[in-house]
Amino acid sequence: MSSRSFVVGDLQVTAVTDGISKVRPDSFPDANWHEHADLLHEDGTMHLPVACFVVRTGDMTVLIDAGLGSTKLPEYSEVFECGSLPSSLKEAGVSREDIDVVACSHLHLDHAGWLAQDGQPFFPNATVYFGAADWDEFISTAEPHPLAPDYIRAGVRAVEAAGRLEPIERDGQTIAPGITARATPGHTLGHQTFLLSSGTSRLVILGDSIVCPLQIGNPDWSVIAETDQAFARKSRESILKELEGTSTMAIGPHFPGLQVGRVLAGEGKRHFVVN
Ligand SMILES: [Zn+2]
Repeated sequence: MSSRSFVVGDLQVTAVTDGISKVRPDSFPDANWHEHADLLHEDGTMHLPVACFVVRTGDMTVLIDAGLGSTKLPEYSEVFECGSLPSSLKEAGVSREDIDVVACSHLHLDHAGWLAQDGQPFFPNATVYFGAADWDEFISTAEPHPLAPDYIRAGVRAVEAAGRLEPIERDGQTIAPGITARATPGHTLGHQTFLLSSGTSRLVILGDSIVCPLQIGNPDWSVIAETDQAFARKSRESILKELEGTSTMAIGPHFPGLQVGRVLAGEGKRHFVVN
């Protein structure tokens, strides 16, 4: 599955993939894997997409998240099989020049990888938004964080040099017509989710606030990549409380099958019900 499209009122959304991530069960140290063994591939990992979302809103084309990129780092060779975003965009009928806005949920490598290629912004006409606190966490530090290696820092700097970098400073900031950023810190300090809204339709693009639907029924299950687990849990809980029992749809870039769904409560637990 390299793409899937859906509508949110007048907004057209296409989920496109950059590839897959093979997530080891110990990435969720609290998870009860014997109850969820069906989620594991025969190699013992969960195969989750690394997706981005093209949103057509009015005259603008927005890309939410920017994949892992074409850089192959040996330390991640067993985790990521990525690099297909350009061909996925082409299949979806989008050129990189068409993208007016790129909004990164956070600056981990699998969400900001295509910001630049060969020292130049990969989306030459795009303004790039991201949560301001991620700058201090990942870009301006002396040493690169393992989840924001040198090529990510260089990509962000290349966009900055082109005068197209827009750190999100305020919760609820509008980044394009019908799209607002919501501060959901924890996974990273500047982590953002994006609320798409048109007429009575709403969709939340979750970033990694909820890495996979497993955490909808079990919001206490942290993922090891989180900067601040307590903060991440709090953000997850408040997002789920807001979604529960409403018609608002949700999806994240690592949700299996790129399927949108709703959060419903039943039998003392929340469930993700695919639309
Ligand atoms: Zn991720």
